[in-house]
Amino acid sequence: MKRLPRTYFGDPLLREKAKSVPLPEIKKPSFQKLIKQMFFTMREVGGVGLAAPQIGLPIQLAVIKIGKTPTRQNLTALPSVVLINPKIERHSKTELQDWEGCLSLPAVRGLVPRYKQIVVSYYDEAGKKQRKVIDQFFQARVFQHEIDHLNGNLYVDRMRDMESLMTLKEYMKRVPGKAKKK
Ligand code: ZN
Repeated sequence: MKRLPRTYFGDPLLREKAKSVPLPEIKKPSFQKLIKQMFFTMREVGGVGLAAPQIGLPIQLAVIKIGKTPTRQNLTALPSVVLINPKIERHSKTELQDWEGCLSLPAVRGLVPRYKQIVVSYYDEAGKKQRKVIDQFFQARVFQHEIDHLNGNLYVDRMRDMESLMTLKEYMKRVPGKAKKK
């Protein structure tokens, strides 16, 4: 399998509102193949989420898979999730700030406020409607980040503290506990 070509910050496609996926499309082999290629591409580049606009397709499709890594020991792993036409139905009042990066803005990090918990509805890869409470904060953050991509938003739009925007190199140097473990 080959990595899908990606889009980067500055590409107007990342600023478009992605179109809904017609439900009969989901079961088509070409669509199922696209989902597999997105998971493959995300794994290859070390991401936890990838939205279709990030591979040049303005459609409401994103994939998420959160595994434990040496720098993410405390989070709860999340097996593969496919989000089709997702909507955030409810969210907590509480927001939390944490560091975020994006495959479309390589080697940059910033502090982004996100809702602590969300209720999200979407269609899965079998075309089945799902409604889930996402109460693990890191998972809620990733869902919000990916759903933002489908609405043409990037995490920098959500930042309140623009002074926290920094290169990955500075982030590794300056943010406690983020230094690369060997
Ligand atoms: Zn992103």
